[in-house]
Amino acid sequence: MKLLEDRILSDGEVIDGKILKVSNFLNHQIDVAFLDQLAQEWVRRFSGVKITKILTIESSGIAIGTSLARAFGVPLVFAKKHQTSNVNEDVYSAEIFSFTHGISYHVVVSKKYILPGDSVLLADDFLANGKALQGLIKICNEGGAQVVGAAIAIEKGFQNGGDELRKSGVKVESLAIIDKMDSDGIKFRD
Ligand code: 5GP
Repeated sequence: MKLLEDRILSDGEVIDGKILKVSNFLNHQIDVAFLDQLAQEWVRRFSGVKITKILTIESSGIAIGTSLARAFGVPLVFAKKHQTSNVNEDVYSAEIFSFTHGISYHVVVSKKYILPGDSVLLADDFLANGKALQGLIKICNEGGAQVVGAAIAIEKGFQNGGDELRKSGVKVESLAIIDKMDSDGIKFRD
């Protein structure tokens, strides 16, 4: 999506060729009207797909998730980060390895909010190795909910998460896919 690619080129900052900082519209300061425009593109890409809930992870997925929930007219659920693996029977949980922090953490979702019969659209700001989405998929599977796809703002196509998820049958819709980023600049997939 050209709108997002242009914004990444004007406002993004590449750190060590690995991390893209988009703190002034997506990750720290949030351009809400801009995210609502992105959400309209996902509405187009997922038209005809039954969606009953959006599921993301705190904290950086919540802004995108909110715009998506508003656009689709369904609730947003976010997986909460949990300090220990000692989780209780009222929640579904998953362990996720964080690409940005280099450590594993647990997330939990109350069993009240993911139900059998739910058609869940996953959402996140970034897709890199796919661990965050895999954790959310595990939670949906445990809850008997169906994953109908993933709405991602920025996919780092040079990491394999997106392609692996597509191969496994998940409809991943990333609005900007970066094939290369370094000190020479950012190259998007056509
Ligand atoms: P994955 O689980 O797919 O490896 O990584 C996705 C998660 O890591 C996202 O939730 C996102 O918060 C974070 N992440 C991965 N790469 C980047 C990046 O280049 N920039 C930022 N800001 N976050 C990233």
